[in-house]
Amino acid sequence: MLFRLFVSLSVAIGLSSCGQNVKKTSIKSYILGVNPAHEAYKPMIRMLIQDYNGNVGSEVLQYSESLDSANSEVIITKGLEARDGKVGWGQWSSSTERKGTVVSVPGVKSSETTKYSLQVEFDEEFLKTNEKVAANGLPNYELRKLFAHEIGHGFQLDHDPDVKQVMYMDISGEKNFDTYWPKIQAFFSQK
Ligand SMILES: [Zn+2]
Repeated sequence: MLFRLFVSLSVAIGLSSCGQNVKKTSIKSYILGVNPAHEAYKPMIRMLIQDYNGNVGSEVLQYSESLDSANSEVIITKGLEARDGKVGWGQWSSSTERKGTVVSVPGVKSSETTKYSLQVEFDEEFLKTNEKVAANGLPNYELRKLFAHEIGHGFQLDHDPDVKQVMYMDISGEKNFDTYWPKIQAFFSQK
């Protein structure tokens, strides 16, 4: 059973205005890093990222060897399933910074930049149990489903009520990714 933990961290600097002079920019740059305590899982995470990007058709996820230069953490927790009854979590966050005038003044421009990031957490035993690479050279199917599901939450997708879809709340069994990849592509094409 997988549930979504929704956390939106919004730091808005300044008050709202009519907004006509506000230039809005959104930065969707996701640089994933793994906690050094889980060094052994780095190759697995890199492989999942590569596989994921290949399916989206662009580098929507990046990887950083150092957690310090990442903005999105991959947390690996021993006993997560025993603790929470789930093998993964996914959440997204954003922060908005505003520069310039607080109240809209004709002819005076202000700007607003929203940066998005994500956080995913996986059960260590689940990763270990499914670490064997598939015969076709792709990551294990169980891992591909889990990774896509939690990263999907990180890209603001909700659960899909259709039991066959990878965004269904329970990822066990055969899942369909056909509607998933276009949703991710659509998310990145939104400005
Ligand atoms: Zn979920």
